[in-house]
Amino acid sequence: MIPFSIYLHIPFCRHRCNYCDFNTYAGQEKQIPAYLDALRHEIAILGQAAGIRLPVHTIFFGGGTPSLIAPGEIHRVLKQIEKEFDLLPNAEITMEANPGTVSRTQLEALRTAGVNRISFGMQSSHPEELQLLERIHAFEDVIDAVRWSRQAGFYNLSLDLIFGLPFQSLERWKTTLDHAISLKTEHLSLYSLTVEPGTRLNAWVQKGIVPAPDDDKAADMYEYAMVRLARECFRQYEISNWARVDNSGKDYASRHNLQYWLDQPYLGLGAGAHGYAGGVRTANVNAIGQYIRMMKKENSSVFPLSPANRVFEKINRETEMQEWMMVGLRLTEQGVSRAAFWARFSRQMEAVFGEEIENLLELGLLEWFGDQQDRLRLTHQGKLLGNQVFMQFVGD
Ligand code: SF4
Repeated sequence: MIPFSIYLHIPFCRHRCNYCDFNTYAGQEKQIPAYLDALRHEIAILGQAAGIRLPVHTIFFGGGTPSLIAPGEIHRVLKQIEKEFDLLPNAEITMEANPGTVSRTQLEALRTAGVNRISFGMQSSHPEELQLLERIHAFEDVIDAVRWSRQAGFYNLSLDLIFGLPFQSLERWKTTLDHAISLKTEHLSLYSLTVEPGTRLNAWVQKGIVPAPDDDKAADMYEYAMVRLARECFRQYEISNWARVDNSGKDYASRHNLQYWLDQPYLGLGAGAHGYAGGVRTANVNAIGQYIRMMKKENSSVFPLSPANRVFEKINRETEMQEWMMVGLRLTEQGVSRAAFWARFSRQMEAVFGEEIENLLELGLLEWFGDQQDRLRLTHQGKLLGNQVFMQFVGD
């Protein structure tokens, strides 16, 4: 049986950053105890609804700012998962953390609680850029956080960076990247800034207070990062993600995120979380109070549904094939294979997507590779125009 992944959403932040459109809330910390009760209840309901103790090989505390939750509470959540699910040995247990919210003792306690991977939101090493993004941390906090994490026994760390910021020069981006590399983490995620509707940053751009991100400059930064990180022995395994492989051959690619890109099942628990299991996509209500109330009302559900679902949808075969291509092609190294497509859908990949593939091959955005030339992946140009590629596979 394919092991499951569990995503747990922690929708609390000290401050709402101006570019953020995630489901997260500032100034709601008083709701944390009730929220965690509801989250444990949701774990219990889903675990019991499954009928068997489903194997779980990755857990991810995302947000929001999960590092605002006391390690003892994280431990209780993990215990609840262990009770209801078959948590496999060597499971990857990741927590996203804001470098401005962690201490050495907290990191030690998180390690003891069972968390074994931390992803820090570094974003930039320049104070002006961090200020522009309204981040509450300084680069020095990232240095401390990484050092304390190592001392606490974390051997799998990741940093998130953002490029393509208003006013950001290529030179500045190079320095941020240098600083991130100097911290010797096992993994890096690099995201191009998108100005999302409804954010304060969007309002500033509309009013001309800050310039809109420059796509060409962002593409230069991305290309620079690809070359620079390859030189540092980072392997780009996904459009936005790079990992090291250590001397023993251990690969530090995020196993949790690979679950999404390999189109494998995951449960999404907590306010606003999304899940995908048994061919059903689920999405929970966003508001914290509503989530807590909905979880209080019910004691059972039908797997993989949750009492907190705001929507659920049975995915038809055609959509499943489209999504499989879209997420699989994000994997820049391994791409998608004819054999895997056949194994999953009992159809020939080209019989379903022949026209789209041909079109993208002609545009130079996809290429066949492998001994048998039976795997398809993005070309260099395809990585720069990923969305254009993925959109080809979306139906009318
Ligand atoms: S810390 Fe992260 S999740 Fe919270 S508001 Fe800022 S960007 Fe959004």
